[in-house]
Amino acid sequence: MKQRFSTQLALRFGMIVFVTIALISVSANVLIRHQFEKNISERQRTFSEELAGALVSQYNDATKEWNLEYIHGFGMYALKEGYILKVYDQNGKVVWDAENHDMTACHQVMQEISTRMQEKRPDLDGNFVTHRYELKRSTLLKRVTNQKTAQEPAQEPAIIGYLDVSYYSPYYFSESDFAFLDSMNRILLIVGVSSMIGAVGAGVILARRLSVPITKMTEITGKISEGNYAIRFESEVQMRELAELSSAVNQMAESLERQEILRRRLTSDVAHELRTPIANVSSYLEAIIEGVWEPTADRLQNCYEELGRISALIGDLERLRQIETENMRLEKEKVDLLELAQSVRSAFEPELENKHLTCTVTGEKTIMLGDPKRLHQAIFNLVSNAIKYSNEYGKIQITVHEQEECAVVEVSDQGIGISQDDLPLIFERFYRTDRSRNRKTGGAGIGLTITKAIIQAHGGKIVAESRENHGSNFVMILPRGNIDTEMDIDVDTRNGI
Ligand code: ADP
Repeated sequence: MKQRFSTQLALRFGMIVFVTIALISVSANVLIRHQFEKNISERQRTFSEELAGALVSQYNDATKEWNLEYIHGFGMYALKEGYILKVYDQNGKVVWDAENHDMTACHQVMQEISTRMQEKRPDLDGNFVTHRYELKRSTLLKRVTNQKTAQEPAQEPAIIGYLDVSYYSPYYFSESDFAFLDSMNRILLIVGVSSMIGAVGAGVILARRLSVPITKMTEITGKISEGNYAIRFESEVQMRELAELSSAVNQMAESLERQEILRRRLTSDVAHELRTPIANVSSYLEAIIEGVWEPTADRLQNCYEELGRISALIGDLERLRQIETENMRLEKEKVDLLELAQSVRSAFEPELENKHLTCTVTGEKTIMLGDPKRLHQAIFNLVSNAIKYSNEYGKIQITVHEQEECAVVEVSDQGIGISQDDLPLIFERFYRTDRSRNRKTGGAGIGLTITKAIIQAHGGKIVAESRENHGSNFVMILPRGNIDTEMDIDVDTRNGI
């Protein structure tokens, strides 16, 4: 079972955000914790030094006595903060000892800190350690050792005593420190969870925006494949790729619809084209067989003409089959298109006279590499149409000229023209704009299909412009090919007509 696009996208989004948030949380946690621990350890050291500094001021030089009341208050304050103090005079005699003074409170504080730290940070493997400070009248205080034994310094300024500070090492967290770390973790968790929810939501929305048109397009293509060619994708899509896909689907439907209409027209046209002459021939023959009619030359001639119409239609179908199934083989040589146009014009002399049409060929000698028979056929079809669809006394103009690397042949008439709706379809096989009228002209609707195939086989293109009741203009544009290598015609002798 394949997952839905939206589910996949939402899951992937969620996963990416989860990994990102997890990485940020872990690294932030490690970094902040590391910095925090460094700060705390530093704070413990400076606090101890400040304690020692403050004690110095409690020594009376004149009386050589310590202010015990202050030291007591001071010691109890330090105890609450997790520092156990022991003050000695310069001879190493104990002046004030927190443990002596309130052993229970001291043990309770030590117990609390040790339990809390071992419970929350067993990895630290911490313990209470004592640091000794020399108490001097002035100047900097110096931590001498971690041992409890005092070293007698012999230098000035005179040592007035020693301070032993015991605290949990390497560092310890107070309740508020733990509260800070806990709230930091909580914030990271909240940010992480809400970002994940947001990301999954965004993934779902994005996936919907993508999957809705895709699903619609799948539905439409399904319907097209079932033969519903009139259906189109009409919703507005924001994304360029999807817009391109939808217009491609619409174009495909349009083209299939057009082909389907043409196919239906073709079937009914061919049936009609065959039925009429066959019915005529049958009725003639029936009457002759039953002795109603004499088989006169006229009647047999009629039958012959009707059979000719059928055979012409079959011939058209055959020609089209050839073009559509075989690759057109061109026998290329140097061709002068102006000459071809003139010979096509001459071939139509009787038709032009019948309809009192004027047909002029103008332009310049235009040599190209091409198949003369096929090119003749292409121009022939255009001129034949121009004559067929011109009104009496109309004008037809054939122009031949060069344009950059191309040869151009234009055939224009002042005939009935083609409507804008029909114009894009006239090159389709068996397409005829007005079927009843065209039947009289004898066209099966493949002349332009053949012309276009010939031009395309030469690497060129054909363009049609037309206005109803004003006339049409067909322009063939053909690449001239590398004529210099094959050249045996004098290109300088150009004639304009
Ligand atoms: P046909 O054999 O019917 O002429 P074509 O393929 O040559 O078939 O042309 C297709 C259709 O295009 C014609 O049936 C006609 O309706 C239209 N057509 C082609 N050329 C012209 C033109 N010069 N003037 C008006 N209509 C034209």
